[in-house]
Amino acid sequence: MEQTLVLVKFDGVARGLVGEITSRFEKTGLKIVAAKLTRVSQELAVKHYPADREEFLKGMGNKTLENYAQMGADPVEKLGTDSPLEIGKMIREWLIGYIQEGPVMAYVLEAPHSVELVRKLCGHTLPLIAPPGTIRGDFAFDSSFLANTAKRAIRNMMHASGTVEEAKYEIPLWFKKEEILKYRRTDEEVMVG
Ligand code: GDP
Ligand code: MG
Repeated sequence: MEQTLVLVKFDGVARGLVGEITSRFEKTGLKIVAAKLTRVSQELAVKHYPADREEFLKGMGNKTLENYAQMGADPVEKLGTDSPLEIGKMIREWLIGYIQEGPVMAYVLEAPHSVELVRKLCGHTLPLIAPPGTIRGDFAFDSSFLANTAKRAIRNMMHASGTVEEAKYEIPLWFKKEEILKYRRTDEEVMVG
């Protein structure tokens, strides 16, 4: 069994999509083992998006640079730098703001391959290219171009741990051990034998 951290950010909560999104996870066989609607403190936000994850920051910076090249826009003119790390740090600040806009719905979901399964159901980071049938593809349309121009994070409603390692780091930030519950779903036997 594998556990993953999933957040419906405030854009999803404000639009009343928590039930729809939760239902998709449940129907796929993901078991809710912890859940809460919560406001995110600055302390939690900075831990959730740690400043020392250079690879993550550079990755976001490089994605932005690619996007600017495609659009024929000059990153130095728009953002004041063309360093992937510096751009990544800027996006991290936007993300810290985004996650604190309002209450977020946080869950721990459990299933075999839960990390990969949840990522598949959420769809690509960019709603514009997330396929129909995925949460981001069905309920959002944001693009890097719109987000970077407005100097804000891409509004894709969801956070889901990207790897098992990330899930192991993130889950204890959001939930105490005793908030994560063990129980059996009646369909478990049918689904996994
Ligand atoms: P995820 O795991 O699919 O959510 O994507 P990442 O971990 O790479 O990025 C975290 C979040 O940062 C994304 O969900 C977006 O909200 C935001 N983000 C990622 N890349 C960019 C970008 O190039 N520009 C902007 N504005 N936001 C980004
Ligand atoms: Mg991620």
